[in-house]
Amino acid sequence: VKCVGILTSGGDAPGMNAAIRAVTRAAIYNGLQVKGIYRGYKGLITGEIQEFKSQNVSNIIQLGGTILKTARCKEFLTPEGRKVAHETMVKEGIDALVVIGGDGSLTGARIFAQEYDIPCIGLPGTIDNDLFGTDTTIGYDTALNTILEAVDKIRDTATSHERLFFIEVMGRDAGFLALNGAIASGAEAAIIPECSTEVDQLEEFIKSGYRKSKNSSIVIVAESEITGGAMHYAERVKNEYPQYDVRVTILGHLQRGGSPSAHDRILASRLGAASIDAILEGQRNVMIGIENDQVVYVPFTKAIKNDKPINKELVNVLRTLSI
Ligand code: ATP
Repeated sequence: VKCVGILTSGGDAPGMNAAIRAVTRAAIYNGLQVKGIYRGYKGLITGEIQEFKSQNVSNIIQLGGTILKTARCKEFLTPEGRKVAHETMVKEGIDALVVIGGDGSLTGARIFAQEYDIPCIGLPGTIDNDLFGTDTTIGYDTALNTILEAVDKIRDTATSHERLFFIEVMGRDAGFLALNGAIASGAEAAIIPECSTEVDQLEEFIKSGYRKSKNSSIVIVAESEITGGAMHYAERVKNEYPQYDVRVTILGHLQRGGSPSAHDRILASRLGAASIDAILEGQRNVMIGIENDQVVYVPFTKAIKNDKPINKELVNVLRTLSI
């Protein structure tokens, strides 16, 4: 391998820039050429590509978003689109790819790598933390801290007015942000997709004695088709328990922005550097993760399709501490 291409794809996440910097610098350190590909797989198809030197990634470790921009690219879902992408790679002399993104982006990388026999390395970049084989994903910790800051502020007004707030957080179909956000903010409950089949989480919350001794309550709801989102629960309470003064806040895209936390910057730096080690070792088609503080290589098929389990101990901690 002589030249590595980097792209960011799918939803953006804080720490993606730190990862771009790490991949670029580690590649140059090891004598490889680096090319930045703009707008995810779109840039591979349209040829929006620029050679990156060390200075191109100066002063970006602290920035949210991604300097390479990101996009969803329908053409890449088709064999024809991927053929054009491959032609661009050949023309540009790119012979390995580092893809920073979520589950969809890594699925694209897996398919592309299989079709054209190109070493593709994935870095888990998503606030949702829903990739198997890594303790956390790049952006998750920052998003969690952003949620905390928002919930703390809502708590002030909730307490003054003695209200019940349903706060919706992101996570696709994963409850990591909601559950850990609830524990860290001292919320009374979390409604997460992983528990939806076991119990009616709203009933459980109300029956557990909501408001016995409290003058406000905060319930964090994971956005998801399975939970139905915060509005759904607020409507239910309004209908079934009209005595409660209910409000809804949907945190939305503010969760995706901001300067990455120390944890995310360090994670992105380690994963980025490890992606170049992996390429040099001849690894192909793996996601780089960190488990128990060790860098691990996770085959794409394992990283993507396994539902990463929620630690049930965390569910119990929240329940115990919210009496
Ligand atoms: P996030 O979880 O943060 O939303 P993501 O990476 O899962 O990020 P997606 O929109 O699912 O985001 O995927 C990003 C891009 O990856 C798609 O627009 C497409 O270009 C490519 N991609 C996704 N799935 C496939 C697939 N099955 N085959 C080829 N390419 C794919």
